[in-house]
Amino acid sequence: MTDDAAPMGEFDRIARFFAPLAEGAPGAYGLTDDAAALPDAGADREWVVTVDALVSAVHFLADDAPDLVARKALRVNLSDLAAMGAVPYGYTLALALPKDMAEPAAWLEAFCRGLADDQAEFGIHLLGGDSVSTPGPITLSITAFGLGVRGKALRRSGARPGDDLWVSGTIGDGALGLLVAQGRFPGRFSDLADRYRLPQPRVGLGSRLVDAAGAAMDVSDGLLQDAGHLATHSGCRLVIDGPRVPLSASAAELISDDPDLFALALSGGDDYELLFTAPADAASAVEAAGREAGVSVTRIGRVESGTGVEVLDHRGHPLDGLTARGWRHF
Ligand SMILES: [Mg+2]
Repeated sequence: MTDDAAPMGEFDRIARFFAPLAEGAPGAYGLTDDAAALPDAGADREWVVTVDALVSAVHFLADDAPDLVARKALRVNLSDLAAMGAVPYGYTLALALPKDMAEPAAWLEAFCRGLADDQAEFGIHLLGGDSVSTPGPITLSITAFGLGVRGKALRRSGARPGDDLWVSGTIGDGALGLLVAQGRFPGRFSDLADRYRLPQPRVGLGSRLVDAAGAAMDVSDGLLQDAGHLATHSGCRLVIDGPRVPLSASAAELISDDPDLFALALSGGDDYELLFTAPADAASAVEAAGREAGVSVTRIGRVESGTGVEVLDHRGHPLDGLTARGWRHF
């Protein structure tokens, strides 16, 4: 029996796989202690914290590459921090692996390689965690900590009638990418499938919007549904100009072949773009934030008094059947 095949104790796991990920965060104490210390946020900063849990066969497939599972788990949290206007600092991880898992060392090695890649990309470190075995499926939870400007967290409740409605990047790639990943368009649109598997959290943009934006959130459940949440929490109505919704070249090509897919682009999930509002006189500041962050920003509509979300077609008429929950008639 080789060392790799021997049952791994928790201390072995920590030392071999996780402690290297904590190097660079002094308060993590090399993962040798019972808890970690966060540094002082500073007089004009505040800590922002978010958590997400993922279960195998529910939020990812059992045979998904472990490094991609790790990176997606981390990135959905970073997207939430960006939506609040915070800069990511670090994270903790709780991991439950099946008792009878074949080759846990190989899985852990790939999983931690994914974490290391994204730590380097986003300038963050592992601060602590726990790893256990379970009679159930692979389950993991990441809690991410970020620093925001004190008192300036971007809330969902900050939209006001007269504001513009903006979105970052492109919409629909996540939902259309899932179709591609499921094999609907063999040999085509692999860029969309990549986008579904590996979201691009807009961490550079969120923190640059804290002065310009009124309300913000990330688009994880679909543009229309998330716009509905923003409208509800702000007590406003959101009007979206359908033709202004930014699409990637691949999404535009798919939708021109099958116009019904536009509804999926607007209502499907996993885009991880930022949806936000800003007063009309902040438009140039929003565009400057996008330029500095290297992310496109598009004004897709406006905030009015009232409730709910409406999508207009190219003539300015309401699109039939589109509601905040997606297509009613499909
Ligand atoms: Mg969110």
